[in-house]
This record gives sequence, C-alpha cells and structure tokens, in this order.
Amino acid sequence: METPPPSLPSKIDLAIIGAGPHALTLITHLLQKRQTMRGRFMVLDPSGSWIRRWQHQFAGFEIPHLRSPAVHHPDPNPFALRKFAESRSHELFAPYDLPGTKLFEDFCFDVIRRFQLENQVYTSAVTRIEPLPHPIHPQFRLWLQDGHTLTARRVVLATGNGKLQIPDWLKEIPSGYPQDKLFHSQTVDLGKLRLTGERVLIVGGGLTSGHLAVGAISRGAKVHLMIRRHLQEKLFDAEPGWLGPKYLKGFFEELDFEKRFSMIQQARNGGSMTPAMVFQLRREMRSGNLRIDENCQVLKAEWLGKTWIVKCGDGSEYECDSIWLSTGTRFDVTAEPLLTEILQTYPIPIVNGLPVLDTHLGWQGCELFLMGGLAALQVGPTARNLSGARMTSEKIVPAIIKPRIALSYARSA
Ligand SMILES: Cc1cc2nc3c(=O)[nH]c(=O)nc-3n(C[C@H](O)[C@H](O)[C@H](O)COP(=O)(O)OP(=O)(O)OC[C@H]3O[C@@H](n4cnc5c(N)ncnc54)[C@H](O)[C@@H]3O)c2cc1C
Repeated sequence: METPPPSLPSKIDLAIIGAGPHALTLITHLLQKRQTMRGRFMVLDPSGSWIRRWQHQFAGFEIPHLRSPAVHHPDPNPFALRKFAESRSHELFAPYDLPGTKLFEDFCFDVIRRFQLENQVYTSAVTRIEPLPHPIHPQFRLWLQDGHTLTARRVVLATGNGKLQIPDWLKEIPSGYPQDKLFHSQTVDLGKLRLTGERVLIVGGGLTSGHLAVGAISRGAKVHLMIRRHLQEKLFDAEPGWLGPKYLKGFFEELDFEKRFSMIQQARNGGSMTPAMVFQLRREMRSGNLRIDENCQVLKAEWLGKTWIVKCGDGSEYECDSIWLSTGTRFDVTAEPLLTEILQTYPIPIVNGLPVLDTHLGWQGCELFLMGGLAALQVGPTARNLSGARMTSEKIVPAIIKPRIALSYARSA
C-alpha cells in the first residue's frame, strides 16, 4: 500500500535538506545501522521526490551512462547494483561496468522501495536555517518556502549546491542579448532545443561540455569547443587511489587545511573528458561538425544583434549564434545563503571557501552536518561524487546515532 506524502511536524530530531543521491545514501546507511531512526527524520526538497535534480541533469544532457563504476551508488552494499543488474548486464558499460542512466535510476528507485522511503520527501525548499543556540541543546528553526517552519535538533545539508563559475568576460557584456543565446550548462535541456544550422560555442573542457557538444551536433548544430587549457583525457575526475588509503592516508595525515585544499585541487585538476568521449569528439571533428580550440581563453563577447563576436586572448575572433557556458561549479560555504546565519552564530575556519568541519563532518558548536563538495577538506577530492556520498555517510552516521546525542524527540505534530 502506498504511504501518503509526509505531513510536516513542528519538531523533528533530524532534518535532511535535499533529496539527491547524497541524502539517499545517508538515509540508507543510517537505517541500516539504526532502524529506530525511522520516523525521526524528515527529508525536504522542492521537488517532493528523490533524485529529481540528478534525473533532470542526466536527461537534459542526454548522458547515456555514469562516469563512475557500478560499486558507487546509494545502497550500503557496494555489490547491490551489480546484483540488480544481473539480468541487465548490457546496461553496464566498459570499462569497469559503468551503469547506464536508466539502470542506475531504476536501481535507486529499488533502493527507495526496499528501504521504504517512497513518499518520504516533504515538498518544499528550505529558505533559511535559523540557529537557536543553547548551552546544552542547540537547535535550528528551518524556514520553508511554503511558509511553514520546522524545529530540528540536528540538520544535514545535502543540497549539492555549488556556485556557478561565471567568467569575468561575461560580467562585461551589456544586457540586451536574447537569453536563449547565452546560458549556463545547468539550464540546458537538449531535448527542448532545435539547432539546425546553429553555430554553438561551448566554453569549458569538462565531460559536460562533451555531452553538450555531442547533443548539439546530433540536432544539426556546428559546434566550436573552446578550452582554457589543454583537453584532459581521464577515465575518472579523480584517480581511484582517492577512494582508499593509497592517497587518503596522506591526505588525512596532513593537518594543514591549506595544503589539503591544494591536494584536492591537484587531484581534480579542472575538467576532464573520458577517453570514450574524446574518441566521439574526434570523429565529429573529422566529419566537420566540431572544432576544438585548446589553450584558448575568451576575453570578450559582443552581441551584434543577430550573432556573437567572441575575441580570444591570442587575438583571434570567432562568430557564433549562441554561447553555452560549461565552466563548472565550485563549492563555497560563504556563497550558500542557508549557512549565512550559521556562520555568524558559529564562526569556524574557512579555507578557500571550504569549511573546516570535524571528522564527522559536523560544524563546530552545533549539530549541523555537511555533505557533498563542501565537506571536501574531510573527505577528499571525491566528496561531491557518489563515492563521496558513501564516505560522507560513513562519517556522519556514527555522530547521529552516538548516545551523546540520544534521540529526545521523534516527530511530533
Ligand atoms: C551531469 C552530471 C553527471 C554526474 N555524473 C556522476 C557520475 O557518473 N558519478 C559520480 O560519482 N558523480 C557524478 N556527478 C557528481 C555528483 O554525483 C552528482 O552531482 C550528484 O547529483 C550529487 O548528489 P547530491 O545529492 O549532492 O546533489 P543533487 O543531486 O544536486 O541533489 C541535491 C538536492 O537538494 C535539493 N535542494 C537544493 N537546495 C535546496 C533547498 N534550499 N531546500 C531543499 N532542497 C534543496 C535539490 O532540489 C536537489 O534535489 C555528476 C554530476 C553532474 C552534474
């Protein structure tokens, strides 16, 4: 029997903001360790559903399969996806069994069903986290977009919200150009675009640029891919050594967080594309559908009424019909509006935008925990990825179930 969507209690022990893969991973790990947590947590997301943004992104960019291997997913059992895929092995792609998009989604919904998490997401964005300091029992008041408030004893922030990296030249462009002629990749939905004969300039050298280039070409566009550095070909965005002691041992031994930050930067080293994507792009170059300029930095873009003129650092100029920015996101705690009051009430050290959390990813002074890229100083370069979600959950769950913060109240309407 279907459970009805959750009603909003006035108080809750644990509020989880966001219902993406990270939040899902946390809940499965939590319930596996403490079934008694059922009914004591609340998940909030404007979509009212699990993994909606993830689905939207994969559909919008027409991504056929994940970049990460089949062991990375929200189930606590690393082999659960492989087992689920036993009769669908053709949906595991080489190399290393990369799950197809549909397979991964179906698997996530199977996890949701097995852990009885259907209809567990309350439909609303959280617009404000108000700290309610107290010497023994600090709490939070969550202000929701639908006008309600909720008091929570513990909060996990799993919004996955990065700050869009907007290049300086963009800020110099006077307004007045059509909105559909320049946008960030986050808003691209390939299925809605008609591009026959369109000349599209894609700025950025990550895998998303590759997906967008392939998608635009398949809709009849000619694509110009402009990459600030050289095109980096890598299987994964960070080496697998970052998933275990090989690199993480040294990372955790490093007590200087500035140095940890540099290690993260070096490990990710900007955007990169998989060999399979590079192969596809080379084929499109040979067919005359794609031009790639490496080590090429845009200095200025000017809208001439019907087309763009783009000027680059080496003095070259190009004309195109639309510009798509695929310049990525970065994680910056000071740019997250939900954390403004937390930072004021409980100031903690910040290193290049990343907060210095405790080893359970808790915020010093209150029971707030961070997941995703913001937790990178304590998780490593894969914090934002699915593998990071597992590592993060393994760190947060013991802090949630430990007796010091024994559950004093469950849901109370
Ligand atoms: C195109 C793309 C492909 C990727 N492919 C892979 C891959 O193959 N393997 C891998 O390991 N990683 C991959 N990643 C990286 C990462 O795993 C994903 O970004 C993943 O979605 C992160 O999960 P998340 O739960 O942190 O964030 P999200 O999936 O973004 O989910 C966060 C949720 O929080 C909600 N939210 C945001 N603000 C609020 C608010 N104020 N109140 C309430 N809810 C809020 C959002 O609605 C959203 O549903 C990919 C990323 C992208 C962009």
